[in-house]
Amino acid sequence: MGDYKFAKDKLAEVLSSLGDYQVFAPTPAGDVVRFLEVKDPAAVTLESANSTVPPKELMFPETETLFKYRLGDTGLDPSVPDASARRLVFGIRPCDAMAYTIVDNLFSWDFTDPYYLNRRENTTLVGFACGDPCANCFCPSMGGAPASEKGLDALMFDLGDTFYVKTLTDKGDAFAKAAGLDAAGDAESKAAEKQAEEALGKVKRSIDTAGIPEKLPSLYDHPFWEQFSDRCLSCGICTFLCPTCHCFDIQDEAEAFNARRARMWDTCMFAEYTVHTSGHNPRPTRKERTRNRISHKYSYFPEKFDVIACVGCGRCINNCPVNIDLLDILEKSKQAEGKEAKTA
Ligand code: SF4
Ligand code: SF4
Repeated sequence: MGDYKFAKDKLAEVLSSLGDYQVFAPTPAGDVVRFLEVKDPAAVTLESANSTVPPKELMFPETETLFKYRLGDTGLDPSVPDASARRLVFGIRPCDAMAYTIVDNLFSWDFTDPYYLNRRENTTLVGFACGDPCANCFCPSMGGAPASEKGLDALMFDLGDTFYVKTLTDKGDAFAKAAGLDAAGDAESKAAEKQAEEALGKVKRSIDTAGIPEKLPSLYDHPFWEQFSDRCLSCGICTFLCPTCHCFDIQDEAEAFNARRARMWDTCMFAEYTVHTSGHNPRPTRKERTRNRISHKYSYFPEKFDVIACVGCGRCINNCPVNIDLLDILEKSKQAEGKEAKTA
């Protein structure tokens, strides 16, 4: 693993030199910034604090064909992605890379999911340390940091006219070689360390999560949920933009005799998500759905996988149209008096 650098004005050149990879990078798209395949290196932006849309869709697409079939035939045509195609995510923020390590638990749990895991295996993650965390970032509370290396193959720092790149894995070294990066020295690595420390000091929000996973089940019927859910619009933005939310639905779609089975994102914030075939809905109101979103992340997931399913990126707070604030909910949950534990 090594220390490298390249001049900032060579960014387009570096991206163009990665012809062996399918490269994705943050790119403005309408009103948002999201990770798109790099067609024009000049369109890539590293200016926004973090992308509006997280890069989770690169491992877990919004809609994905699992297999195709023809009605009346017994054979299936699986659409498992080719594991030999190399992909590279350039400029991913440390929280979003850490989010993959959390979601990995689900896709390698009771069923080993080749669709997700093949993509994880063949993708190199080149991170970009945050120099200026946004107003609602709280990654240090979740075990991360603006320059966390967790889940990354390389980590890049903006040092003014130069990008310093620290490689962390063999995949990171392969990237540095393919990009033809120059060796960096002590001056760059020390400047990066200083920037990492300063950025940590700029994180404004925090939450002490101790006791929350154990406490939440005892608040199952507590009226405090309504203080937040009453104004929820059930728009689902908080889950679709969350890098760790991973709920999906599976549907068969047919046209004449040709059909496919597809997986698509779903959200527990929609009323239809839990409707039974009988018409009964165990989460009929926004109260139950808000309770489930928070409890799933902060109680059920850590109970099963020993890690909270949140990286503190702040997107659910930044983008909720009615200002429902995850950290307010968690703080209130700590003050509320619990009863006998229940889950759903
Ligand atoms: S973003 Fe806000 S309004 Fe929309 S579902 Fe989430 S909590 Fe409700
Ligand atoms: S719950 Fe909110 S803060 Fe946590 S990872 Fe999801 S979007 Fe980010």
